[in-house]
Amino acid sequence: MAKYDPASLKTICGTITSYYPDAKVELVKKAYNFAEKAHRGQLRSSGEPYMIHPVDVAQTLADLKLDISSIVTGLLHDTVEDTHATLEEIEKEFGHEITELVDGVTKLSKMTFKTSEEKQAENFRKMIVAMAKDIRVILVKLADRLNNMRTLEHLPPHKQQAIAQETLDIYTPISNRLGMSWIKIELEDLCLRFLHPDVYYKLAQKIARTKKEREKHIEQITELTQEKLKEYDVQATIVGRAKHFYSIYKKMERRKTEFEQVFDIVAFRILVENITECYKALGVIHATYKPIPGRFKDYIAMPKTNGYQSLHTTVVGPYGDRVEIQIRTH
Ligand code: MN
Repeated sequence: MAKYDPASLKTICGTITSYYPDAKVELVKKAYNFAEKAHRGQLRSSGEPYMIHPVDVAQTLADLKLDISSIVTGLLHDTVEDTHATLEEIEKEFGHEITELVDGVTKLSKMTFKTSEEKQAENFRKMIVAMAKDIRVILVKLADRLNNMRTLEHLPPHKQQAIAQETLDIYTPISNRLGMSWIKIELEDLCLRFLHPDVYYKLAQKIARTKKEREKHIEQITELTQEKLKEYDVQATIVGRAKHFYSIYKKMERRKTEFEQVFDIVAFRILVENITECYKALGVIHATYKPIPGRFKDYIAMPKTNGYQSLHTTVVGPYGDRVEIQIRTH
């Protein structure tokens, strides 16, 4: 997993003006100063100044290209709960909209979820979404949770377990439903690291290739496959990705296998014009790379119950490792 660089007021403002050149970053600076004053003297469990936490939360919100109010809320989100600052002061300094957002996040933070029963978890997720009213409250909460998970190593083990489990039960499904896949992926990998450290570190060791190497590998397979498909007149878009640790772990669990049998750590999606082209592309793939027996699934002829349609296969790729391929129409 990539180490994240500590954010600062400067990087936050830089990110905002990159997608919103006329942004009034004065309010962001004002919120930074307000929070910095309120949290002054407080430390994180890591021993660092508390301010690095709201700053990282605000940076995540800026990375998500959210509005100024959300980013300001990110900076202020812990002031009411953890300092002498009050909602009245925030109302006076930052107005009603931001006050409502800060209040929403504060209320969510007071809720903790204990059982890991699926039905209860679903109810709790619904409650959070209903309670938040404004979707931005949930986005701030997700950014808050992301930073807490990134810095979880500084907490005692029993707290690590509880927070990671709650994240997996409640917050990763919410981030998934909101379509925030990078947050979901990072949260899931962090949860795995604290809930099943043995699995996590084994995977990290086995997948010794650096991210860059994996990306280069994906690029090469994409190019080779693209050429092959062109030879046979199949117009296709190929999207490749390196699977994240948690998805590899889930696969190992499902198939009750060891890592050695789950070598398809890169996955590709081939998008074509129509269904006939799907089967044509499959033919090209199987003629080019050796398919792994028992791994071909035709969800086009037999869609999944949720309506999902696609061709799935796993082949031995050009570099000898397993490659998972999904073929579907645009
Ligand atoms: Mn917080």
